[in-house]
Amino acid sequence: MIDSLEKLIEEFSKFPGIGKKTAQRMAFYILKERKEEAETLAKAILDVKEKVKYCSICFNITEEDPCVVCKDEKRDRSIICVVEEANDVVALEKTEQYNGLFHVLGGVLSPLDGVGPDDLKIKELLLRLKEKEVKEVILATNPNTEGEATAIYIAKLIKPLGIKVTRIARGLPAGGDLEYADQVTLANAIEGRVEF
Ligand SMILES: [Zn+2]
Repeated sequence: MIDSLEKLIEEFSKFPGIGKKTAQRMAFYILKERKEEAETLAKAILDVKEKVKYCSICFNITEEDPCVVCKDEKRDRSIICVVEEANDVVALEKTEQYNGLFHVLGGVLSPLDGVGPDDLKIKELLLRLKEKEVKEVILATNPNTEGEATAIYIAKLIKPLGIKVTRIARGLPAGGDLEYADQVTLANAIEGRVEF
């Protein structure tokens, strides 16, 4: 095989969920495309790395800091929904049912993978709670073992502050990910949240 093509296949096969075969098809697709198309793709990849950063308040991905959610005066500042990753924010925003703020942890507690509290944006969350505005924190980590453990850990830290702590309702597929839940299920999970 030609070296440069081999290299491209190798790079594509690093993508999540992309096997060698798909990577090969993608590489051949690029090969057949016009040069401008390839340049557009390459630029889009570089742009996302150069322009996208993390919001200094909620740690969601954004091109401007603070992000649009944190800046939006119409959002309910008394509720913060805590999620694992930025794509959970996207999923929750799609439901159009939630109008509060977010806080992105950047993962979950996972002792086996060496992820402890200091590796997540938990300290930053507690700092945000010092502003008296916040009345409720919704823990919307995924409904699997690590997500539950993380929710319990954070709930224990917040409860002494006298702020209401809730957990998104069951009904999401157990062990599933928020990002794969349909909008109705997700909206119901937020709506039916229960106090910790
Ligand atoms: Zn933000």
